Parts: sequence; structure tokens; C-alpha cells
Amino acid sequence: MTYRVVWFKRDLRVHDHAPLAEAARQGPVLCLYVVEPSLWAQPDAANQHYQFIGESLAELDRELRARGSRLHLAIGEVVDVLDRLHHAHPFAALHAHEETGNNHTYARDLTVARWCRQHGVAWREWPQFGVVRGLRDRRLWQPRWEAFVAQPLVAPTERIDSVDFEQRPPADLDHPGGSTSGLLRPWSAHALPTAHSLGLTHRDPPQRQRGGRAQGLAVLDDFLSDRSARYRGGISSPLSAPEACSRLSVHLAYGSVGLREVVQATRATRRALPPEAIRHKQGLHAFHSRLYWHCHFIQKLESEPELEWRNLHRGYDGLRENDWNPAHFEALTQGRTGWPMVDACVAMLRATGWLNFRMRAMLVSVAAYPLWLHWREVGHWLAREFLDYEPGIHWPQVQMQSGTTGINATRVYNPVKQAMDHDPHGHFVRHWLPALRRVPDSWLFEPWRMPADLQSRCGVRVGDDIPVPPVDLTTALRQAKDRMHALRRQPEVKAAQAAVVNKHGSRRGMPGGGRNAQGEERPAPKGRRGSNAPALAVTSGQLSLDF
Ligand SMILES: Cc1cc2nc3c(=O)[nH]c(=O)nc-3n(C[C@H](O)[C@H](O)[C@H](O)COP(=O)(O)OP(=O)(O)OC[C@H]3O[C@@H](n4cnc5c(N)ncnc54)[C@H](O)[C@@H]3O)c2cc1C
Repeated sequence: MTYRVVWFKRDLRVHDHAPLAEAARQGPVLCLYVVEPSLWAQPDAANQHYQFIGESLAELDRELRARGSRLHLAIGEVVDVLDRLHHAHPFAALHAHEETGNNHTYARDLTVARWCRQHGVAWREWPQFGVVRGLRDRRLWQPRWEAFVAQPLVAPTERIDSVDFEQRPPADLDHPGGSTSGLLRPWSAHALPTAHSLGLTHRDPPQRQRGGRAQGLAVLDDFLSDRSARYRGGISSPLSAPEACSRLSVHLAYGSVGLREVVQATRATRRALPPEAIRHKQGLHAFHSRLYWHCHFIQKLESEPELEWRNLHRGYDGLRENDWNPAHFEALTQGRTGWPMVDACVAMLRATGWLNFRMRAMLVSVAAYPLWLHWREVGHWLAREFLDYEPGIHWPQVQMQSGTTGINATRVYNPVKQAMDHDPHGHFVRHWLPALRRVPDSWLFEPWRMPADLQSRCGVRVGDDIPVPPVDLTTALRQAKDRMHALRRQPEVKAAQAAVVNKHGSRRGMPGGGRNAQGEERPAPKGRRGSNAPALAVTSGQLSLDF
């Protein structure tokens, strides 16, 4: 008798889970989640991610138990765990979903692949997103995405034949060479190591979303049936966005809800709406485009893992590396820049673990231009602050908003203008920065300009309750733009753009192509491991989500 190991990573569900279904079809299964200390020691890991995973694992275990199985935990490096397990109880195959993670998981997966080859274990991986491993031609990507999302969902196996060494070790699995004693722990809330023991000392945002499939399905249902009608026109302002956006990102990131099931449910909801539900249909259409972008962005990192740590366009190397200003970084991360819209966003992020797209882009832009900070540290900080951290979306976005892709218009957000556009009455700023509650609208977004007597009448002291910005905004923005434009004009930088476009540039003709409600350009399919297409035409003032 032999068995298969199903290794759960960022796919914490039993529904539409091909690795589990296939393993269960073939015989006994060990369902495994490995807590990897080295993974949690990475600079993009945070306590809130770990807590969310813990909540999701609890529900995964309940789902497995309902099918006669259970979840086992192991603590250690994956290859060590597999090695010990295999030594004690040889298994035939390792099943998992493909992961486009950070460089650490990429290297780990290569090691796992090597270990499997050396030990005659079949490692079978299934895609869980419309991301194509080994993609050679980006032009072929869109049909592959379409085919992926259209595939029927994999029904959860009703009865899983379980391997459980702790409770009832099957005689024919016993092996004189070793034991799994102490290696595997049946899931229980206490079996999970504490965050502290893994060095995860960050605060857990008190208002963050909770993990688990039931939560994910409730969010999906509420969004499709109701909130998506407010999606168009509601997603740019941080006031309306928490309700108008789907809030599914974290469930997609940890797989408590699968991408394919969200795409199919969106399409079905849209089809079922009456013709007069125009705004609702438009909202679902715009949302559907984002599900496409989700994979489109991850494909970039899949095709070019170096995106995580080096400039996409190498002509930008050296642009900011030698100008690191710790005081600017400290002001940003502590929400003490003195620009109220920026500081309010940081306050919201610290409380909830979430921000809408526009405000994420503004934070990175403020870091990159007036504060002139290199994107790498900023990206790590935000990765820890975003509950939904998804490396394949995050790093391309961070580079794009920092201007190092070399193929997009330099997009510089002025935080005062963003406040006027998206929080005209100051409700958002006053909510997150209570010190400014009594400041009149006319001074609210530039409080450092307030005369001293007005400050005392409003009960706020600039330089104390709200800091003075570390740089003069107008001057710093102009200098930053000048530097960017000077670099872009250099012949060798211009020449190298073609190669970046060739590999990552946008393709027209994607579903929902054109512009969305915010005037943001919709991406066309592109790829991470090569393709040829015309450059994306980005005009000034247009917010492209793509490159
Ligand atoms: C600097 C920066 C970093 C970001 N980092 C992440 C990240 O780590 N994880 C993450 O999921 N999103 C990231 N985004 C994209 C976007 O901001 C979030 O997906 C969105 O705010 C999540 O909220 P939602 O699920 O309610 O979004 P919705 O608007 O409801 O979108 C639905 C889904 O579409 C996908 N999506 C939405 N916008 C984008 C986009 N611009 N590019 C690619 N996919 C998109 C996400 O999976 C999202 O869950 C980042 C954006 C920026 C500017």
C-alpha cells in the first residue's frame, strides 16, 4: 500500500483543488501544511499573514474531517520534513499547486523538485491561477487564461481515504528506518507554533479581514449580489472603496476561494441580471477585468523572478540606490509625513491591513518621488502591511508606481490633489487623523500652512500633533520629475525599452479592453517569459494599471 502527500501552501480549501482530488482518486492521502521557519523569517512576512493562515487552516481541517480525513502540520524546512517522512513511510507522489511566490519559495521549490527526483517521488503540480509556467510567447497567454477559467470546477472529493500515522499507523506503512513521531501534528489550534516563536512580532491589525473559506464565500456573495453595483465610481476614493471593492484579494492570495470559481460566479451573476441593471452589470464587468489582471501581473513575476529585487529596466539602476534617507522612510512608515492624505492612509493600513488600489499607488508614488526612496525597502514594508500580499501583483506594481519599469509614463501622485479629488470634505482624513478634526476644510490638506493663531483655535500644533513635511512638496516633485525625464531621454535607456516591452508589454484586445470608470487603462495580455507586441501607449494623466 502506498499513499500520496498533498502539500497545502496558498491554496487553503478543498473546493476546486485538483491536487487533492487527484490524490484522493488514487488512494490514501496525507494532507500536509508545513510551517517553514525560514519562510517566516523573510522580510515580506508578517504576523497578520500568519494569523490569517491559521484561521484558514482551522477551516480547512474541518472540511477535511467532514470527508474522513484531517490536516497534519509539520514544522521545519520542507525538504527536511519530506525526507524524514519518506524515510519513515515512503510515499509515491507529492501533489501541490504551482506557486509564483517570492525568491525564497522559488528556490525552495527547486530544492523540492530535486529531492523528489532523487527519491523517485513524483512531484505533480497543477496551476491554480491563469498563470503559465514556462510561457515562451506572451501572445499565447490570453487564450490560455480563457481556457483555464472556463474549465469546470473540480468537485471536492466526498470521502478521502486518510493516512494518519499518529492515530492508526497502517502496518504496511511502518518502516524500520525511522518514525514520524514528533514530525507530524494533527491540526489543532495549539499545534500551530506561536507567531512570536517564529519571530513574527508585528502588530496584528485589529480590523483586518478574518481567514477561512466561509468568510471568503460570504464576502463573494455579498459583493456579487449587492456591492458590485457600486464598484464603478466607488473604488478610487478611500471612503467608498472598502465597501465598493470586492475585498476578495486576501482570499485569492491564500486560496480560501479559488480564482476560477470567482470568475465563473461573476459571469453567472452577470448573465442572470436583468438588462436594466446597467450599473450592476458594469461593475461586474470592471471587476472581471481585475480578475484577469490578477493573473496577468502574476505572470510577470512567474516569467521574471528578478522583478522582486532588481529594476525591470536596468537603465534605472543607480537612480535611487545611493540616496537612501532613513528619516524619510521612518516618516512614511510611521504615518508622520505631515501630508494628511498619506498619513491617514498609513493609519488605515495599520488598522485594517487593506487599502484600495489608488491609495496604494499614491503611497508608493510619494515614497518614490518627493521622498526619493528606493522601492525595495518600501515594497517590503508594504508587503508586511498588506494582508493580501501577493508577490506577483505586488512587486510589478511597486516598480511601476516607482517608475523603474521604463516603459510607462512617469506617474506622480500629488497627495494634496489626491485628497481634494477623493476626500473633498475631509471625512477620511479626519477619521484617521483625529488631531485634525477641528481644522477647517480650506487648511485640512496643507495644515503646515496654517497661521499659528488658527492652529491654537483648532487645537492642533503643527510640528507636534501633525509633523511638518520633510520636504517642500512642489520643489521635491519638480526635482524628481526632472531626474526621471533626464534619465528617460538618454539614448541607451530609450534603446533598452524595446526589450522590456517585448517581454512584458501590454497586448491589446483583452477582455474588457479600453478604459475603466476611473480612466484607467485596462491591460492587454502580456507575459513574463517573452512575447512581442507594440508598446503600450500611455498618455499623460492616464493611469495605467499595466505595463
Ligand atoms: C503598490 C501596489 C501594491 C499592490 N499589492 C497587491 C498585493 O500584494 N496583493 C493584491 O492582491 N493586490 C495588490 N495590489 C492591487 C490592488 O490594489 C489590490 O488587488 C486591491 O486593492 C485589493 O482589493 P480588492 O480585492 O477589494 O480589489 P478589487 O478591485 O475588488 O479587485 C478584485 C481582484 O482583482 C485583482 N486586482 C485588482 N486590482 C489589481 C491590479 N491593479 N493588478 C492586479 N490585480 C488586481 C485582485 O486579485 C483583487 O482581489 C497592489 C497595488 C499597488 C498599487
